[in-house]
Amino acid sequence: MNNRFLDTPVEYLKGIGPKRAELLRNELEIHTFGDLLEYFPFRYVDRSRIQSIREITSDAAWVQLIGHIVRVQTIGKGPATRLVAVLRDDTGEIELVWFQGIKWIRDKLIPDVDFLVFGKPTWFKGKYNIPHPEMDLASERTLTVTETLQPFYNSSEKLKSRGFNSKEFSKVMRVLTGNAKGNLPETLPPELITQFRFISREEALNQIHFPADSSMLQKAQFRLRFEELFFIQLNLVQLKLLRNKKITGLTFPRIGDFFNEFYHHHLPFELTGAQKKVLREIRMDTGSGKQMNRLLQGDVGSGKTLVALMAMLMALDNRYQACMMAPTEILAMQHYESLVRFLGDMNVQFELLTGSTPASRRKGIHERLRNGELQILVGTHALIEEEVQFQNLGLVVIDEQHRFGVAQRARLWEKREVPPHVLVMTATPIPRTLAMTLYGDLDVSVIDELPPGRKPVKTYHFSDSARLKVFGFMKQEIRKGRQIYVVYPLIKESEALDLKDLMDGYESIVREFPLPHYAVSIVHGRLKPADKDYEMQRFIRKETQIMVATTVIEVGVDIPNASVMVIENAERFGLSQLHQLRGRVGRGADQSYCILMTGNKLTTEGRKRIETMVRTTDGFEIAETDLKIRGPGDLEGTQQSGMILLRITDLVRDERLLTMARNAAISLLEKDPELKRTENQPVLEQLQRMKKMRANWGMIS
Ligand code: ADP
Ligand code: MG
Repeated sequence: MNNRFLDTPVEYLKGIGPKRAELLRNELEIHTFGDLLEYFPFRYVDRSRIQSIREITSDAAWVQLIGHIVRVQTIGKGPATRLVAVLRDDTGEIELVWFQGIKWIRDKLIPDVDFLVFGKPTWFKGKYNIPHPEMDLASERTLTVTETLQPFYNSSEKLKSRGFNSKEFSKVMRVLTGNAKGNLPETLPPELITQFRFISREEALNQIHFPADSSMLQKAQFRLRFEELFFIQLNLVQLKLLRNKKITGLTFPRIGDFFNEFYHHHLPFELTGAQKKVLREIRMDTGSGKQMNRLLQGDVGSGKTLVALMAMLMALDNRYQACMMAPTEILAMQHYESLVRFLGDMNVQFELLTGSTPASRRKGIHERLRNGELQILVGTHALIEEEVQFQNLGLVVIDEQHRFGVAQRARLWEKREVPPHVLVMTATPIPRTLAMTLYGDLDVSVIDELPPGRKPVKTYHFSDSARLKVFGFMKQEIRKGRQIYVVYPLIKESEALDLKDLMDGYESIVREFPLPHYAVSIVHGRLKPADKDYEMQRFIRKETQIMVATTVIEVGVDIPNASVMVIENAERFGLSQLHQLRGRVGRGADQSYCILMTGNKLTTEGRKRIETMVRTTDGFEIAETDLKIRGPGDLEGTQQSGMILLRITDLVRDERLLTMARNAAISLLEKDPELKRTENQPVLEQLQRMKKMRANWGMIS
């Protein structure tokens, strides 16, 4: 299972040594030969093509020119000194610029010989120049450019300062792939290799670093991308199969009085078709004798909480306890209040447990949990503390799952022989591809229908200069009895500045909306929980009309009378955050509005986000767009938990490949669930190696 070669620490590679090895470890998590081999180029530039100077039409694209130097000049003094050389070919002239290594370059720039110049033009003061181009003698071209497709590797500033730039990576890879010959075992079973006509792993790894031509590069990418997705899926599918097979679950055979009484006498409205469908799915799961692990996705306000509540009643009908865990105190409280609202008239014992529950009360809760008197417990992280022991826990509902470390999920039932059923709810719509990768071991239900009578939120974009108009609009809505959120971004890195923004904003709103006519609440992260709560409660009780806040209200808070959401500096929020925020309004029967305030200048990305918000209210469309704009690594919740570490695939581009890989994993495991067959040994070994490498895989369930 160990591969001596792949597991060798990088410092033993010729040309690396202990110092640079440490940098590679710290900066790029490259520990071993194996890690280094899988550090793939992020781009390839075709160096077989020579362009003419007149052809240069954009910055950002690499160009390769042949020409001779006609002028060389040193400009400026001290640290501002730069060397400017003018390159000429048959079509025109362009300036080459150096800020460093000037003396050395100057000596190299001899007149009357042709140079091969390679670099990235930038547009500066009305013309193009090329900063720090690579220069080679054109006559030596065939000698210096051995590969036509030149790979480019990402490096870090620290590594670059030690000379570890893209070129250096190439050099090191040369040595490494040379030594690797015969040491790179196959990882896929012969059947798959034949089916998809994959090139061997050794060949793929060679070609990915040193492609012979673009067709070989494509073959290498195809194989390595497939392989990456295949092993992720193999891991997830195996977990799911094992769980279905081995982990028996509690069985909830009956629907009884709790559920029926609620359904027939206390439910104030008709369930939507989607809610009914999900309840049927949960019924099937909990009746099957296997542990339920279900992800419930639904846009904000789609009625997930109600579904969860009814699922908890199913547990009660079968003499089990249930609990519901929320990421914040405010949310836990809101869930608790929903229970009061919905179950208040029924004979159900439920309690709220959070960090601020007084010790005296806590003791009683612990006791009643243990003796089984308490049937439902709602709370925050406080639920997974040591002293919290259920007598008979049957169902765990976890709200807004990605805000919890996934690992914590397991803490609730690690000591039990038969684990409770688990329902995870998330209001962040996750694109299908991402869901498959992140939650491939869960079953997924989707509530894709809003309760009837909801009017879609109208969204408008204003720049700061229209602020007076916006204030006027806010007054008009307040006169109708509505309430308003005004939200400011608060990003950790610029917390102090953001807080100042928020306070300035608050002051200008208080000036514009003065007492006694108006009252304004403010909530931000620096407030003590008790103060935060007090301000929230004032708003909930309609004693204040405007709530100025940072994103603490982002998740879940349900105040149907609030019908206007003003988002300040909206360009600084991510799409999914904007969508979540907008979901705070539009919960009542009134027409609701979302107003996105931005400065006049927007980046292309910022503009795209704002346009998307104005165009659509469909959470899935927004999530897809978000994935396209930002790439999966940045999607909220995935980066923090570091669950996705894709080296060569892109969940947007490789959607089809992902489906192929998942199907291949399923069909392999159906035939050989524990990977015992001889021909699957390479697969088993690679899976184990990857599990070890990506310790975070273990956390997924
Ligand atoms: P989510 O948890 O998905 O954000 P909630 O369960 O909090 O949504 O529901 C949002 C609001 O809609 C709540 O006030 C809830 O009482 C109400 N609601 C839920 N289901 C329905 C329904 N079928 N018909 C009408 N209103 C509903
Ligand atoms: Mg909710």
